[in-house]
Amino acid sequence: MINIYTLNKYELITKIKDDGYPKYRGEQLYDWLINKNIKNLEEMSNLPKDFKKYLSENYFFSKLKVLDKISNSDNSTIKILLELQDGNTIEMVIMRYTDKDHSKNRNTLCISSQVGCSVGCPFCATGKAGFIRNLECEEIVEQIQIANEYLKNFDAKVNNVVFMGMGEPLLNRNNVLKAAEIFNKDYNISSRRITISTSGIIEGIKFLADNDLKYVLAISLHGSRNDLRDFLVPINKAKNLEKLIEIVKYYQIKTRKRITFEYIMIDKLNISKRDALELSELLKGIDCHINGIPINTVPGTDFIRPSRNKIYNFKNWCQESGLSFSIREEKGVEIDGACGQLRNKKRGSNESSCSM
Ligand code: SF4
Repeated sequence: MINIYTLNKYELITKIKDDGYPKYRGEQLYDWLINKNIKNLEEMSNLPKDFKKYLSENYFFSKLKVLDKISNSDNSTIKILLELQDGNTIEMVIMRYTDKDHSKNRNTLCISSQVGCSVGCPFCATGKAGFIRNLECEEIVEQIQIANEYLKNFDAKVNNVVFMGMGEPLLNRNNVLKAAEIFNKDYNISSRRITISTSGIIEGIKFLADNDLKYVLAISLHGSRNDLRDFLVPINKAKNLEKLIEIVKYYQIKTRKRITFEYIMIDKLNISKRDALELSELLKGIDCHINGIPINTVPGTDFIRPSRNKIYNFKNWCQESGLSFSIREEKGVEIDGACGQLRNKKRGSNESSCSM
């Protein structure tokens, strides 16, 4: 049995043709699955009985089950807890943005790539729960199918994907890149609207650069000195900031693409004037933008959300020292939008997490 979501359009149509059915049957099936977002064979009204029998005997149509769903009051953020076939759970978050002039809608899916995560950032619920396994390609792709099913209520589809949910995407590189290719080619999501957010996996960044992959690269930086980053992003102990900056420069020379750095803002930890100056020194010569993300206070820890004043002071210091810096529009605070929280609630833990 093959999971239907592992195949891209070409592979699906070729397989169906190789199994003795005309090419147009594959195209009809693709239309139901991807364009109409229907996965129930009964609803595929133009497919004959013998073809449906062949499909049901040879393909899985689903591996994920929706366990829980919460949305904020205006339905602009929807967080969904999914159960995998082996009983593990993951989360995804749908964020609906409308431009100020209402001319364009952006429907972002924050997608998971692993069950748990081995990086172990101390402010993140997913990291604290540890790593369990990589997601298969079809388990990544099916998240968009479920999101689109939900977005039908708003006559919308996912048009922006960020690999910022549970897991480190570049530690599951093959499955993530195959899924990203399916999003790009079959779901018509431009590569400029697919973001791979990494904690700084050097080999993975090099692979993206060497293979001319045009996705947006975001790097969780969070600190501009090794001692600080060793604490906030423990992977830094093995590959320090100097190595990270070296590969970032290599990536930029190869791709000529602007890089986004994510910077979680924590009171009394990484938002002083000194931090801003060191950040600007560290990123000198790199074409980049920094997303400042004020942390949500984690009760019982030293991770405290800075006051509005402190957030804007840090932003101003960064901008004055020449950095392009913005504060990320927050979605999902009302519903604990950060990854890992809904999952932890189901598991009986109240730990909080980061906003990525
Ligand atoms: S913040 Fe991201 S990289 Fe760090 S532990 Fe959480 S999921 Fe992993």
